[in-house]
Amino acid sequence: MRKYVIMGVQGSGKGTQSKLLADDLDLTHINVGDIFRWHVKQHTKLGAQVRRIVAAGELVGDDLVEDVVRERLQQHDWNYGFVVDGFPRNRRQAEFFLESFDIDGVIHLDLPDEEVRRRVLGRRLCSRCGMDYNLIAHRPEVEGRCDVCGGELVTREDDTPEALARRLRDYHDKTDPVLELFRGKEYVTTVDARGEKAAIQRTIRERLGLPPYHP
Ligand SMILES: [Zn+2]
Repeated sequence: MRKYVIMGVQGSGKGTQSKLLADDLDLTHINVGDIFRWHVKQHTKLGAQVRRIVAAGELVGDDLVEDVVRERLQQHDWNYGFVVDGFPRNRRQAEFFLESFDIDGVIHLDLPDEEVRRRVLGRRLCSRCGMDYNLIAHRPEVEGRCDVCGGELVTREDDTPEALARRLRDYHDKTDPVLELFRGKEYVTTVDARGEKAAIQRTIRERLGLPPYHP
């Protein structure tokens, strides 16, 4: 049984790395964002609650996040373990997590703010089919046009430098204390998130003493 937490700022490749790890080792990938999206889509009571919060321009509160994660982990469908992605978001949640689970490690994908800005502000989205583009890594063949459907590429509304600066500040304010707490327990493995996807996965596995990654 292996239980991991993965932490990293937006754009750090957290989702990709969790998935590579989880798929290969039969771990359950518990992604808080996905759980909320699922509830919204299935029109559950929780989904309605989330929809109201988001419509009011607010962030889903810590209490709600905590309830959702607790409920998800209680389902016990993780035979070989799990990778939790998007939780804990603050010190209190981290304390709750440590009390409730024996975790084997915290993977911290480290990406300098400058690189986060470069990656996030370079993102484009097709206004017609929703295909994701990144002007650094995945450029469209014709500038400003979707390769798939020819739709116009636009910037996501919340990807302005100001909004990103706010999110980065919020991330550090909340997450740095969590990392500090986990570091105190010697759980944290910090991996440079600037490299190539497979190389990062290999490093994560080496550090955690897991079987090597063979894509
Ligand atoms: Zn398109």
